[in-house]
Amino acid sequence: MAKSCFQPLERVQNLAPYVPGLSIAEIQRRYNLPEVIKMASNENPLGTPPMAREAMVRCAASGFRYPRGGNPRLVRALARLHNVAPDRIMVGNGSDEVIDMLMRLSAQAGKHNIVTFHPCFGIYVSQADFNGITRHTVPLNKDFSQDYDALLAKVDDDTRLVFITTPDNPSGYCPSAAAVRELANGLATRNPHALLVVDEAYMDFHPDEANASVMGNIPANAIILRTFSKSYGLAGMRVGYAIVPPVLAEAFWRARLPFSVNILAEEAALAALEDHAFHEATMEAVRTGREVITGELEAMGCKVWPSAANFIMFRLPEGHSAAGCHEALLRRGIIIRGLKSYGMADNMRVTIGNARENKLFLDAVRDFLAS
Ligand SMILES: *Cc1c(COP(=O)(O)O)cnc(C)c1O
Repeated sequence: MAKSCFQPLERVQNLAPYVPGLSIAEIQRRYNLPEVIKMASNENPLGTPPMAREAMVRCAASGFRYPRGGNPRLVRALARLHNVAPDRIMVGNGSDEVIDMLMRLSAQAGKHNIVTFHPCFGIYVSQADFNGITRHTVPLNKDFSQDYDALLAKVDDDTRLVFITTPDNPSGYCPSAAAVRELANGLATRNPHALLVVDEAYMDFHPDEANASVMGNIPANAIILRTFSKSYGLAGMRVGYAIVPPVLAEAFWRARLPFSVNILAEEAALAALEDHAFHEATMEAVRTGREVITGELEAMGCKVWPSAANFIMFRLPEGHSAAGCHEALLRRGIIIRGLKSYGMADNMRVTIGNARENKLFLDAVRDFLAS
């Protein structure tokens, strides 16, 4: 028998695997529960948009066809939605693919670097590591706000991308659009070869989106990331997109795998954009749920961070363990997100659910605190 000495690249062997939120099936099995609710991954509280479901059923028969290269209908629809030229749009298999491609298109392994906060969204970390790109980090402030002077101080001549998340995950913190524009200006002065990536995955939940987002007036050196995974209810279909300078979009469409957004995903996304009733109902459910959960947790003595997103970060009153609460909720079939992996072990994050889910969650926390 011939012997193989094959080894994957060293930097790949050392990668930490992505740890997703616990799954419903896993918890059902572990605790032998008939029903489990998941409030851990910031998915839509109302499910899949009805119009997207219909669209996916309708085009199921086209599953044997390749998609059209370049997803032209989706690109046009997004250009209309955001009032930008179609040649500035990248769409990918979730924002995750878009983030990976941004790094591969702009930074050279072993030479260039990116700058992020710490903690930050895990995909910024994993894809920088995978692509051999150095990451310079700045800690979040104690109150989880973001120090942009400190961020700029980490930018050097080899920096190519600077990442911020607004509203931030998991804290919910959201800077003003003016502060983000000032950061973009500062970056342009410090390194005109670098771009500012503004990850607005949760921005459409913001009660004052027009003033909080830089979408209305995009700095020339900025990229805006958005997704269909949250407010559009399509996390499982994997569609994300970015608005970028045209030179970058042009490189993207030449370099990307031609069919990474599949036929069902494209049709579902197009239909979700048209399902205004669902989108409005989602906004209403999230707005109401945010108020109810915030008010009730505060009444129990929890510290709740203000959130403009579809999740809330909170800390239990003194003397109660976050890990213990997480476990107690799991036993009752409620999955929320512990934040140990973010280095914020005292805090937890709960995704706004529907009215029933919110009540079950609040009852469970109340019982835990009384136990
Ligand atoms: C959920 C989320 C996304 C969306 O990722 P997809 O790959 O589009 O599902 C992007 N950025 C942040 C910070 C998120 O929390």
